[in-house]
Amino acid sequence: MHEKLFTPGPTEVRTELLQAMADPQVHHRTDEFSEIYDDIQVRLQELLFTKKPVFLFTSSSTGAMESAVTNGVKKRCLNLANGAFAERWHKITVNNGVPADLLDQDWGRAITPEMVDDKLSTGKYDAVTMVFNETSVGMMNDVEKIGEVVNDHDDVLFMVDAVSGMAGAKIEVDNWGIDMCLAGVQKAFGLPSGLAVASVSERLLDRAEEVEPRSYYFNLPLLHKYHKRSQTRTTPAIPQIFGLREQLMHIVDEEGIENRFARHDRLSGIVQDWAKKYFDVFPEEGYWSKTLTCVENTRGISVADLNEELISQHNARIANGYGDMKEETFRISNMADLTEIDIRGVLATINDILGLE
Ligand SMILES: *Cc1c(COP(=O)(O)O)cnc(C)c1O
Repeated sequence: MHEKLFTPGPTEVRTELLQAMADPQVHHRTDEFSEIYDDIQVRLQELLFTKKPVFLFTSSSTGAMESAVTNGVKKRCLNLANGAFAERWHKITVNNGVPADLLDQDWGRAITPEMVDDKLSTGKYDAVTMVFNETSVGMMNDVEKIGEVVNDHDDVLFMVDAVSGMAGAKIEVDNWGIDMCLAGVQKAFGLPSGLAVASVSERLLDRAEEVEPRSYYFNLPLLHKYHKRSQTRTTPAIPQIFGLREQLMHIVDEEGIENRFARHDRLSGIVQDWAKKYFDVFPEEGYWSKTLTCVENTRGISVADLNEELISQHNARIANGYGDMKEETFRISNMADLTEIDIRGVLATINDILGLE
């Protein structure tokens, strides 16, 4: 029996997808490959409510985050942060020699449109980064509202890490004015890691042409050149691409996008109700994630022991708190293709182990 993953990435992968990934290789300079590429393209655009091209990166999500800040900033970048992954985006920006400042909010607390407006009114910035679903604290930021503020300022690009939210919660890339919306496939898509996707706006491509190129592998105009031929710039992770096509057909044509979002909403609600009954939910109310729950360990249980027992006795794994929040919090993911039975099952098992009624 394999270990079932209730972790916020990597997530549980359906057997059908693993089988699709075992198909014989297709050469990436053939029409057959381009057909697969196009199948993926139309469905990703549907999923993201966008007409913008959606590029494929053979890298984990971090590569796409690096691509955003190395292509999209000419002047100075403002990295909005209220959790670990957003802080990491600031490090990525700085490590690449891109001028940047951190708007440093407490973890799990909301960043308000006023805070962003204040910063942008200085005129210092031409790009803003934000994490949609902050996996370290189980928080969903109001990207729509922040996007409005960013787009009120002329020529400021808005780049969003939607890694653990995309394919689990609604993101309207065009209506929300997002210039780059990126994610890796090992989270709510429910695929093995190795591929990232990102929608890219015309404005961002224009900006990238003006920026001293800081990367070859993640150079957006180069990727765009090949995208127009329905190809990738370099040899892609072909098995992951087979898996992604299979899963997008399932998401868009079989389950239905809205049904998928509604399922994530319902399942996260079940975990949050449980957390409120026995523990507490960590982030600010009103911003609870729809794809994972970060539980505040108000009972002082040993999270490590709980997980050890879940793994060894029940073939299920949850996640401890992120970084310094280990043992103070723990995280249960309802991402990808988990069902109500799965979620109720893991919660009942936790109750059993902890003797909760
Ligand atoms: C997992 C995660 C990342 C890092 O993703 P990799 O695919 O491991 O590079 C970045 N941001 C968020 C919000 C994540 O959840």
